[in-house]
Amino acid sequence: MPKDGRVYVGADLGATKILAAVFDSSMKPLATEKAKTPREASAKAVVAALAETVRRALAASGADAKSLAGVGVAVPGPLDRARGIVRYTPNMGFKDYALGSELAGLFGAPAFLDNDVQAGVYGELRAGALRGKRNAVGVFVGTGIGGGIVIDGKVYRGSTGSAGEVGHMTLLDGGALCGCGNYGCLEALASRGAMAKDALALAAAGKAPGMLDAAGTDIRKYRSSAIASSIESGDKSVRRAVDRAAYWLGVGLANIVHLLNPEAIVIGGGIATRFGERYLERALASMEEHLMPGLSGSAQVLLSELGDLAVPTGAAYPAAEAAGGAAP
Ligand SMILES: [Zn+2]
Repeated sequence: MPKDGRVYVGADLGATKILAAVFDSSMKPLATEKAKTPREASAKAVVAALAETVRRALAASGADAKSLAGVGVAVPGPLDRARGIVRYTPNMGFKDYALGSELAGLFGAPAFLDNDVQAGVYGELRAGALRGKRNAVGVFVGTGIGGGIVIDGKVYRGSTGSAGEVGHMTLLDGGALCGCGNYGCLEALASRGAMAKDALALAAAGKAPGMLDAAGTDIRKYRSSAIASSIESGDKSVRRAVDRAAYWLGVGLANIVHLLNPEAIVIGGGIATRFGERYLERALASMEEHLMPGLSGSAQVLLSELGDLAVPTGAAYPAAEAAGGAAP
């Protein structure tokens, strides 16, 4: 049990999974619990699953319900942070939904909402790879690519809260179709989803036997681990597809450096660790190649220190700060 007895919860409420973590007042994680997000697009079912996951995490931490001093939840969609309202999420059925007040009522503690990617970059800023930085950017590479911006030590949110959508910078007009409907976005060229589409096309064309063995032709099985094992088994064509994605990530990083001149960029989302040194080196080489001379070497590129816990950590911090509980 933490010394002052108070605990805080941070949860990453995603379209496929829920990850809840309990932190003590020095923001050390005490316990985490995971659950699948209910498939049905009903906000009620999603909130019930979230509440259950949080309760299990609290029980696993050994804290009693009374010691809970704040809850932070991060969601993938636009929201009104001040009023605790989720404006919209693509899959979970939230539409102008007062999630903040509902959670506060359920747990008898103040509740805070945040955008998932912005929470992730805040987690890295307070407790991870970006500790001590004043100007930084987080780029989270997964099915899509999300980003968050830190200016003068604060998360920059933009005029409607949506700053940092680096995944939808157009890098190659007329390039691959993006989930947003445009063509040639960074996300369509460099995300894990983009690699998976290329790997599937190669497998279907008979050019990636290892990929076919690892995951068949069901793109849902084309996870980073399956793509990595195809490369390990000798699929050169898949390796080229991953190299190409790393190249485009580097182009995106160069654009970010030109726009914001950050001290550091943290790469999250698990992909850089999964694909190893070669992936990161390729991305860095491409970034350097696309930087104007004066900015060469100006930004450190770091790997996420918190991994999956970046978002829960960043979601929990505002709750702890509001209660005067977070370490400086
Ligand atoms: Zn896009």
